[in-house]
Order: sequence, then C-alpha cells, then structure tokens
Amino acid sequence: MNNLTQIAYLLTSIFFILGVMRLRSPATARSGNLLAGIGMAIAVIAVLITDHHFSFILIGLAVAAGVIVGTVSAKRVRMTAMPQMVALFNGMGGGAAALVSIGEWIRSSSAGESWTATLSISALFTILIGSISFTGSVVAFAKLQEWITGRPITYPGQKAVNALLFAAALVIAVILMFADPSAMWAAFLIFVILSLALGVLVTLPIGGADMPVVISLLNAFTGLAAAATGFLLANNVLIIAGALVGASGTILTQQMSRAMNRPIANILFGAFGKVSAGASSTGDSDGVVQPATVEDVAMLLAYARRVVIVPGYGLAVARAQQEVRQLADKLAPRGVNVIYGIHPVAGRMPGHMNVLLAEANVPYDKLYEMEAVNPEFPETDVVLVIGANDVTNPAARNEPSSPLYGMPVLNVDQARRIIVLKRSMSPGFAGIDNPLYTNPKTNMLFGDAKETVGQLLRALDDV
Ligand code: NDP
Repeated sequence: MNNLTQIAYLLTSIFFILGVMRLRSPATARSGNLLAGIGMAIAVIAVLITDHHFSFILIGLAVAAGVIVGTVSAKRVRMTAMPQMVALFNGMGGGAAALVSIGEWIRSSSAGESWTATLSISALFTILIGSISFTGSVVAFAKLQEWITGRPITYPGQKAVNALLFAAALVIAVILMFADPSAMWAAFLIFVILSLALGVLVTLPIGGADMPVVISLLNAFTGLAAAATGFLLANNVLIIAGALVGASGTILTQQMSRAMNRPIANILFGAFGKVSAGASSTGDSDGVVQPATVEDVAMLLAYARRVVIVPGYGLAVARAQQEVRQLADKLAPRGVNVIYGIHPVAGRMPGHMNVLLAEANVPYDKLYEMEAVNPEFPETDVVLVIGANDVTNPAARNEPSSPLYGMPVLNVDQARRIIVLKRSMSPGFAGIDNPLYTNPKTNMLFGDAKETVGQLLRALDDV
C-alpha cells in the first residue's frame, strides 16, 4: 500500500470522525452524513486509483445496483418502516464482512498459505459476528415488516440450546485455528452454518417492539466485524470505521436500554411482550374517561399561554407532523408559546420524533428533551399528547407493580390540562393501561391524529 493510499485513508478517517461528531445534533446531522459520505468516496477513489486487481465493469455494476436500490428505498420508505430498513442495510454490512473473510479463508487455504494467530482470529471472529449480524438483521426485518410474528418465539430450553450452539461454534473455531485448514473443509462449513443459525436463533425470542434495540446492537456487531476484517486485510480505514460503528452502536444500545430502564440482558433474553402485549389491564381502569370535542380543545388551546406538544409513535403512524407544525404556527400569533417535549424512546427508534418534526421544519430550538421539559409541566396550561402512550405513563413513577416502573417518563400529568389524541383506549407497545387517561385533568380526543389535528386547525379559525 503506497503513501498516497495511506494519506487518503487518513483523510477518510478524519471525515468519518467529523461526520459522527456532527450526527450528535439534528441541526448538524445532515452535514455530518455528507461529510461521512465524502470520506467514503475518498477511500473508494483511492482504492480504484492504486489497486488494479479487479474488474472495473464488476465494480461499476455493483455501484450502480447499490445506488439504484439505496435511492429508491430511501425515497419510498415510510418513517414507521425506518427501523427495518436500517436493519436490512446494517445486516448487509455484517454479511459482506463475513463473505470477505470466508473468501480469504477459502483462497488462502486452497493456496496452502499459513496464517498467523491474529489473522485466523480476525477471520473467524468476522465470520461469526458478521453472520450473526446478517441473519439476525434479516429476522428483525421480517418481524418488523410483519412477515413473521412480531411476538417473541420461544420454546422450553431455548437459552440452553443457544448457549450450546454458541459453545460448539467456539470449539470449532479453536480447532480451525490449530489444524491444517485444507483438511478441515467440513468443520469450516459447519462453523459458517452455525454462525448463520445463531443470528436467527438469538433474534427469534425477542419481541418485535424491542427490535430497534437489537438492531442497534447488531449494528455494533457489524462494526466490530468490519474492524476485524480490517486486521485481516491490513486496511487501516476499515479498522477505524469499524471501531467507530462498533462504539457508536454500543453507546446507542446502552442509551436506549437505559431510557427504557431495562438492562440489555432483559431485552435480549426476557421475551418482553410475550405475556404483556395485548393484555388489557394492569393500571387503574376504574376511573372515568372524559372525551372532549374538537371545539372544546380548540378553545382551550387558543386561550392558553403555554402549550407542550408530546409526540409519540402514533404521530409517525398517522403522519401528522405537517398538521402539528401548522397547529403551532396558528397558535403563535395568538401569543401561545408552543414547545415540544421529546422522550428519548418515543416512537420506535432513537431520534424518531426529531426526524419526523424536522421533516415538517419544526425549529430545533422548540424541541425540548425530557430532562429539560419535565420541570416545565407544572407551569404548562395544556399538554397535547399526540399518539404517545408509554412515554407518558405516570405508573412508571408511582406504581412499583407496573412493568414500566422505573422508566423515566414525561411528567405530563403535572400540567394544568392534558389532552390525549389517539384512536381508542388500546395500550401502547408495553401493552398496559395508562392511568393518565382517567386523570380528572385529562380529556381524550379520539381519532386518527392527522384527521383530528386537521379538524383542530379548522376549528381554531372560528375561535
Ligand atoms: P406507544 O407505542 O406507547 O403508543 C403509541 C400510541 O399511539 C398507541 O397507544 C396508539 O393508540 C396511538 N396511535 C397509533 N396510531 C395512531 C394514529 N393513527 N393516530 C393517533 N394515535 C395513534 O408509543 P410511545 O411513543 O409513547 O412509546 C414508545 C414505546 O416503544 C415505548 O414503550 C418504548 O420503550 C418502546 N420502544 C422505543 C424504542 C425507540 O428507540 N424509540 C425502541 C424500542 C422500543 P391507539 O391504537 O388507540 O390509536
């Protein structure tokens, strides 16, 4: 590898790091994405210029296929389907890393080359982790796309079987490291099959709505697999990029599980949602539910001084973000101060609400994170909860028996009035009742959020 390539790789790594840094805020995220893309282009061009061991036609075809599939799917995907798209793209990365290692293993074994321990460990690690990431992501995609049930698929002794298969894969990996590779084709094949099977088997018992956390973990796996491939190919930029993906995926996974107050082991092995999903009651369902009319709510909003809008998964389902921004725009000239309260795990992926609201050009300075908005609720005249449920459940604060107990929530019940926009009394992802709905300060405005907010917009004209 010549100096020019090394300089290009250094530049690429700087662009990647700057890109990741800028992804920390919605205001700079787009430019962060662009910077990372430029870094990637520099690395690809450097390889094309300095390495001539491949067919330009094949590379061109692969780039064209990637550009077409990527552009079409990014343009057509619905915001609610974003987690499964991320899963699929991420899984492809893991699969690609595994394939590179499989290819290298086959090539060098056929040529009778001997490997150092570092190279063998790198290759076997990449095959194991990359394959788990690939098949695990495909199962996550199938669950979220509802091609298979989103509920946890469990059977007696499942954890023991998975642990046994994992141990078997490790034993074979050790054998492969020390034996003559050309005499061990059958063992190698079994190792690859076991690695692929493990991805499927460890993902099946995880509930569909926990998938975003698992996707983030698998994303970290893909990063580690790419970094290990970097050791195998002696490619520094792969090592750096893989480490960045591995570290950011791990941090994101930790943050999500902390925001849900569930240890990662509970998400991976707890089969959450198997019993509770669809269960009708664990909360206080004895209270009275008070429906409101659109006209009542329009009146309340028009004469409020401070309104907090709390969006949740239902906003993404209804695709009501444009209407919600128009509502805030219509209230502002009346002297109403409208801000948005964003829970870190509202929706189905981190930043879901930020992305939705950014799509509707809601100013970033109007978005308040949970820690910033919670002290504001006692001074808030009206909270408009739009398609959010679990992230507003006060049982998480004061009912030790609730499955949500301990999860930090938006304290919307402390506001003077609470208006909840949803279609029915159905529970959210956690499958439990929300005592907020029977709070004497709460009124329910039933209906699809897009339609209801549209009606509110029209009703405000008459106030
Ligand atoms: P929830 O899933 O708790 O509730 C969403 C609510 O939206 C439902 O009660 C539903 O009620 C309502 N809804 C659905 N469609 C519409 C519609 N068209 N119009 C109006 N309302 C609608 O969502 P939250 O955002 O409050 O909470 C997210 C949950 O997902 C949390 O439990 C979190 O732990 C979990 N989670 C989040 C992740 C993340 O990264 N964001 C990752 C993994 C899990 P109805 O059917 O009556 O309309």
